[in-house]
Amino acid sequence: MATATEPIELIKSRIDQVDPQSAEQEIEGGDPVLIDTREPHEWDLAHLEGAHLVPPASVRDRIAQLVPDRSRRVILYCATGNRSARAADLLQNELGYESVASIAGGIQAWTEQGLPVIAPEGLAPEQRMRYSRHTMLPEVGVEGQLKLLNSKVLLIGAGGLGAPSAFYLAAAGVGTLGIVDDDVVDESNLQRQVIHNTQRVGMPKTESARLSIEALNPDVAVVEHNLRLDADNILEIIEDYDVIVDGADNFPTRYLLNDASVRLRKPVVSASILAFDGQISTFVPFEGPCYRCLYPVPPPPEMAPSCGAAGVLGVMAGVMGLLQANEVIKLVAGVGEPLIGRLLLYDSLGTRFTELKVNRDPDCPICGEHAPQVAESEMGRFPDYEAFCAGPVLHP
Ligand SMILES: [Zn+2]
Repeated sequence: MATATEPIELIKSRIDQVDPQSAEQEIEGGDPVLIDTREPHEWDLAHLEGAHLVPPASVRDRIAQLVPDRSRRVILYCATGNRSARAADLLQNELGYESVASIAGGIQAWTEQGLPVIAPEGLAPEQRMRYSRHTMLPEVGVEGQLKLLNSKVLLIGAGGLGAPSAFYLAAAGVGTLGIVDDDVVDESNLQRQVIHNTQRVGMPKTESARLSIEALNPDVAVVEHNLRLDADNILEIIEDYDVIVDGADNFPTRYLLNDASVRLRKPVVSASILAFDGQISTFVPFEGPCYRCLYPVPPPPEMAPSCGAAGVLGVMAGVMGLLQANEVIKLVAGVGEPLIGRLLLYDSLGTRFTELKVNRDPDCPICGEHAPQVAESEMGRFPDYEAFCAGPVLHP
């Protein structure tokens, strides 16, 4: 009798294994029962025509119902041929099935030999390979990956936060990435802005980011917004996107983005970094607080030195930018628990995360109970944000 610790090679030596080509001929010509011994999320990705899904844990219970006649030919397969070998051994050597075989190399060898599979609509064969580590997660699956591929995410800034965030969102298969930045790549950026490189010093950051993203993942369409966000252009730019990643390098932009995103009800994943500390929260309008509920007014410039003056640990940008990318993926795929109403602080020197609960401010001038209704004709009008606070104060 097989035990869980028995070496797979020993099990394979006492069962019948068939190569994919012979299995296909037998399936075409004869009438074997074809059984897929994998998990449902693997089945969803691709399976053989005519197969029955029987996950490994339920083979013993379900086989008699599916194949009452023990003299009937049964062919099993899994991903690479190990689970199906164990199941074949169970059928043949414990349950008395007389003619059992396992497809050597599983569906992986089958597809490598160009044999046909049934795959879901929407993912091309190369996408099934590229995103397989996502789709094999039941929480994401093909459905979640298709949501990512159909999503549009806007990054405010291709700097310290935007660079790592954009890179990983591109790898994850976010279908459209808009990037707002009017700056060019500077040597001092390269200590943390990993989407750029030495050869691209002097190149617009949006262009440099696009080149890196296109080289990484041809599925992603990059929209370059090589400009500075202001009250005149912000609504038009953000309205096309599903989620916004705030990596702005100054407070006027952060407040403007907040007010515009609340008006258009766009979720914003906002982070900032300084020296060895970072913070992040996810603002979903009217579901949780907005940026102004948290920070009613910007700090005075002397309390918020610029990055050039104060410095920042390069990897801090990566940590916080990737936490932002993680939030975006959760929002798009509809999984997990976003950082809504929570402010997460990261102290990199102590390696400590601290979470603060943040409530909506009933007196918030933008999202509070008494916030003025904005008429359609006034939607694109914002106060003068340049005067609201002086100069760049938070670093990219
Ligand atoms: Zn608010």
